[in-house]
Amino acid sequence: MAVTSLSDINALGKVAEAMIEQLGKISAEPNRLVRLYLTPEHRRAADQVAAWMRDAGLGVSEDALGTVRGRLDGGNGKRLLIGSHIDTVINAGKYDGTFGVVAGILAAGHFARAGKKLPFGIDVLAFGDEEGSRFATTLSSSVAVAGIFEDSRLTKVDRNGVSLANALIAYGKQLKDIPAAAYRRDEVGAYVEVHIEQGPVLEAYDQPLGVVTGIIGQAYFDIVLRGVAGHAGTVPMDLRRDALAGAAEIVGIVERFAAAQKDMLVATVGNLAVQPNASNVIPSQVLFTLDLRAADNDVRNDLADWFETEAGAIAARRNLEIAITSTRDTATTPCDPRLQDMLAGAITGVGGNALRLGSGAGHDGQAMAKLCPIGMLFVRCKGGISHNPAEYASPHDMGIAVAALIGFIENYDAQAFG
Ligand SMILES: [Zn+2]
Repeated sequence: MAVTSLSDINALGKVAEAMIEQLGKISAEPNRLVRLYLTPEHRRAADQVAAWMRDAGLGVSEDALGTVRGRLDGGNGKRLLIGSHIDTVINAGKYDGTFGVVAGILAAGHFARAGKKLPFGIDVLAFGDEEGSRFATTLSSSVAVAGIFEDSRLTKVDRNGVSLANALIAYGKQLKDIPAAAYRRDEVGAYVEVHIEQGPVLEAYDQPLGVVTGIIGQAYFDIVLRGVAGHAGTVPMDLRRDALAGAAEIVGIVERFAAAQKDMLVATVGNLAVQPNASNVIPSQVLFTLDLRAADNDVRNDLADWFETEAGAIAARRNLEIAITSTRDTATTPCDPRLQDMLAGAITGVGGNALRLGSGAGHDGQAMAKLCPIGMLFVRCKGGISHNPAEYASPHDMGIAVAALIGFIENYDAQAFG
């Protein structure tokens, strides 16, 4: 039942591309892709996904958070969940999330058509809230599936003041059904997601597929540096308390330190606000952000400590006040080593090298890891570009990815996750 012939792989890639084109047309705006959670576009996309699932021979249902589920019955083994998301960022590419849902449907459909019962059932999940582009919250749909939904999410509002609770009701859902969206831990073996890489590593190594080792943790900080405003012409350099010059020094050491690390570690200052922001006034205050991500929790925590010490020392030397506030901290989510090996075997089975790499972006797997072991397969995307209309994965690479997922399912050892 494995798919190894080139013609089969090409056929799968062509079908995947046609499905992605079709879903890519479902948008709130005619000239760019915008498909936010619980909007009419989300409804249309969910209906399309449900129709594909039915055509593939899966039993379709939808839970209280709008996650579409396609069910393939099997033997007594714990269920294998395969999913990704169908919401998008604003001005999105067509492949992010969508391809994982398409790959799951095509792979499960392959076994449904073959008519041979697998020793375990499969559920293909199309989540609706991965990007967090509508509400100030992400992963609501996968969090509910994982059984860790907290009601405090329901009061989060979108930019029009509509709460998640009211948006769910308008979408035809009942809040009392949310707990029923959760799987029981004893019915699920593992969760696997196929996703475009959204980065340049696979392309650089000339590989269509890679095994994800983990979804890297993230720490965010707001930093305020305060000095004293002054006349740009009259205050001598040695008497200045220039908040922007201090911020610049801090940005510089962060970049140099992160670049010198061997571990997967990235640090970004992406937002900086200067006051009074006038060309002839010494800056009195700078507010900036720091986004730290590392594959390892200890590395991230050490870096955060290092940053507080070093930034504090720079501020003290420059006679500036500094306040550092941690605004969010998300732990690294490791991918299960057994699933990594099984996915690597599946990649080798379709002729790939099974490169292992971390995920710098967040994914539904972060929520699903609270329910069961998770694994992820990355697919090469052109130039590493994502969250952009130029996002592209070739039909060939998508075909190979579906073939690898089919091979993975075929060799998946449900007993190992009993
Ligand atoms: Zn995504």
